[in-house]
Amino acid sequence: MSTPRMPELNAATLERREEIVADMRIIVPGEGVVESEAEMRAFESDGLTAYRQLPMVVVLPETVAQVSRILKYCHERNIRVVPRGSGTSLSGGALPLGDAVLLVMSRFNRILEIDFANRAVVAQPGVTNLGITRAVEHEGFYYAPDPSSQIACSIGGNVAENSGGVHCLKYGLTANNILGVEMVLMTGEVIRLGGKHLDAEGYDLLGLMTGSEGLLGVVTEVTVRILRKPETARAMLIGFPSSEQAGQCVAEIIAAGIVPAGMEMMDRPAIHAAEDFVHAGYPLDVEALLIVELDGPQAEVDHLIERVGEIARRNGATTSRVSNSEEERAAFWAGRKAAFPAVGRISPDYYCMDGTIPRKELPRVLAGMRTLSEKYGLRVANVFHAGDGNLHPLILYDANKPGELEKAEAFGADILRLCVRVGGVLTGEHGVGVEKRDLMPEMFTEEDLNQQMRVKCAFDPNHLLNPGKMFPQLHRCAELGRMHIHRGQMPFPDLERF
Ligand SMILES: Cc1cc2nc3c(=O)[nH]c(=O)nc-3n(C[C@H](O)[C@H](O)[C@H](O)COP(=O)(O)OP(=O)(O)OC[C@H]3O[C@@H](n4cnc5c(N)ncnc54)[C@H](O)[C@@H]3O)c2cc1C
Repeated sequence: MSTPRMPELNAATLERREEIVADMRIIVPGEGVVESEAEMRAFESDGLTAYRQLPMVVVLPETVAQVSRILKYCHERNIRVVPRGSGTSLSGGALPLGDAVLLVMSRFNRILEIDFANRAVVAQPGVTNLGITRAVEHEGFYYAPDPSSQIACSIGGNVAENSGGVHCLKYGLTANNILGVEMVLMTGEVIRLGGKHLDAEGYDLLGLMTGSEGLLGVVTEVTVRILRKPETARAMLIGFPSSEQAGQCVAEIIAAGIVPAGMEMMDRPAIHAAEDFVHAGYPLDVEALLIVELDGPQAEVDHLIERVGEIARRNGATTSRVSNSEEERAAFWAGRKAAFPAVGRISPDYYCMDGTIPRKELPRVLAGMRTLSEKYGLRVANVFHAGDGNLHPLILYDANKPGELEKAEAFGADILRLCVRVGGVLTGEHGVGVEKRDLMPEMFTEEDLNQQMRVKCAFDPNHLLNPGKMFPQLHRCAELGRMHIHRGQMPFPDLERF
């Protein structure tokens, strides 16, 4: 068990723990407060299971008024709060703090309104991503962003992480598919941003909230846009003798003006793990596999399949199959969607990274990863949102072997540095959380980080909401601008950082 460096515990808060728990029981009567060590174990980590920490107390409110009272109470008494949805974050965004209330939104699990005429659904934040599609599919609609965790992750968590999925190449990330939120600020104030209308006046605060990782407010309602299901969707499985050829094929498909509904790539270790797990019919004699989905009217899809097939042949594809039924299309995707658990079967532990690169840099980054894999003596399997340039290297390690977790962490950090070096970014869709927090200065200057921190200070000047996440140091808001970060070296050792 390990925990990254986190803000120092607030002794005054811990001394008052009993009183705080009693007050939480008054605000949320019934079953909504969990305080025994045994029961809190279920909440000690999120999807980044390498890190664990018991919270001070877990509170599961049911109403907006309760969320507002909890935050107001904590604000007035200087108590930290960590929001949590379903706890599937892969960057440790919902990792508890030992002196904080863990505010779990899973009881907010109702769809409040389905408005087909305006193509909108209003949902509570604890509704699962897939739950939205399930609620509207009888009328031929669906919610487009489809993280692989969609059966479990909450729409509130999706907003906080600006989550994506295999279909985001064509249909956009969460940010492009939400219309409005209701959220509670740390002071307890309830505000609404956006709505069913298409645009709002003033600053794009909805955009700011999307991807804010629980640092600016707690989302208590989400209005999403739903889409009509395309008339036809067919997927192609295309195998290549090298990742370079597959990468070149991806670049040429995009350059030809074709926007597939999804375009995913897997390398040999990931192909074998997924095929062994779900028997999707993947070719096992290739180094790289592309899954390309095309959707729209039948005639257009047929035409695009031909064009993609030609581009693939030109780039040396050795195998190519096109799905002929919905079952077959689902089977092609099943392997990709189950790639993470599949890799979990071939290694005791894995560490999933999430960086984004310009697509043309793929061969260089894959080569760099092979070198790093040798340097650290750890295997890596790659799944990749090829169309978006979003990499998901899975580093295989064994947490029971002393030092392996640390090696995996160092390997992962080097991969992300490589992404930044080739003109990419530290994250794609999993957020910064604690995982990439200390790498932020690799990408942002002192001024960039100060400006981002000023936004945080405008919403939560006392750093009570999800502290220790996203920013590599605890900035006292009044001192902003006095911190100098030079080439990732941060002086002023007296300031708390983690
Ligand atoms: C197997 C697996 C596959 C995955 N695949 C994908 C993928 O394809 N694409 C992708 O983008 N992600 C993926 N993820 C990551 C994860 O599912 C997403 O980040 C998801 O959006 C997290 O939702 P959650 O409800 O679990 O949030 P949590 O993990 O509970 O929290 C995530 C962050 O959101 C904040 N938060 C949660 N709820 C609220 C709220 N109501 N108000 C304010 N802040 C809140 C938390 O403080 C935390 O910072 C995957 C995870 C797993 C385990």
